[in-house]
Amino acid sequence: KKFEDFGLSPDILKALDDLGYVSPTPIQVQAIPLVLEGKDVMGAAQTGTGKTAGYSLPMLQSLLFSANTSMSPARHPVRALILVPTRELADQVFEDVKRYAKYTPVKSAVVFGGVDISSQTSILRAGVEILIATPGRLLDHVQQKNVNLSHTQILVLDEADRMLDMGFLPDLQRIVNLLPKQRQNLLFSATFSNDIKKLARSFMKDPVTVEV
Ligand code: AMP
Repeated sequence: KKFEDFGLSPDILKALDDLGYVSPTPIQVQAIPLVLEGKDVMGAAQTGTGKTAGYSLPMLQSLLFSANTSMSPARHPVRALILVPTRELADQVFEDVKRYAKYTPVKSAVVFGGVDISSQTSILRAGVEILIATPGRLLDHVQQKNVNLSHTQILVLDEADRMLDMGFLPDLQRIVNLLPKQRQNLLFSATFSNDIKKLARSFMKDPVTVEV
């Protein structure tokens, strides 16, 4: 399998070439076509398997077709929301997404707690299509009306097991309730415990499971 086989845009393929990615990893081979089809996907994958590209490359591709990136800043609603448990993962995912999107007009931003909120506020208010966030800080921004989630088409929960371990379930439920009912849901977790399965049942629609 090659990245070219997925029908990704030349702008995305060029970025992968710059990064020296030669071929997709097993999780990418499984997840990319499913995400492109618009399916809800539950991936059992640890860090290091290439899961970030597994969901962010097809997400970018979908956004290239659905987001009107030439609209004025105030009209750049968040189209894809990636929720992660920690600041470290938030930063890593943001760096990866920026690298994959560098030849596209799709804008991304990251917000997490423990740092000053005002610089994040101005970035959010300028408009971004992809937002990477830790749950608590995202809710702070929602409360301050810095971000509008009513056009979010894709939700990703990355390291979902860690999010539950860290007690984020109530925050996740609050966030999911702010999103449009019609959306695509992706969940990645190192393990599929009963709690993860229960979480998946509560917000996903007929998820396809991929495991590596
Ligand atoms: P992740 O599991 O998403 O944290 O990715 C682990 C590392 O693998 C990251 O440094 C990625 O940049 C890198 N990576 C992801 N996909 C590929 C690929 N297809 N070829 C080479 N490196 C990759």
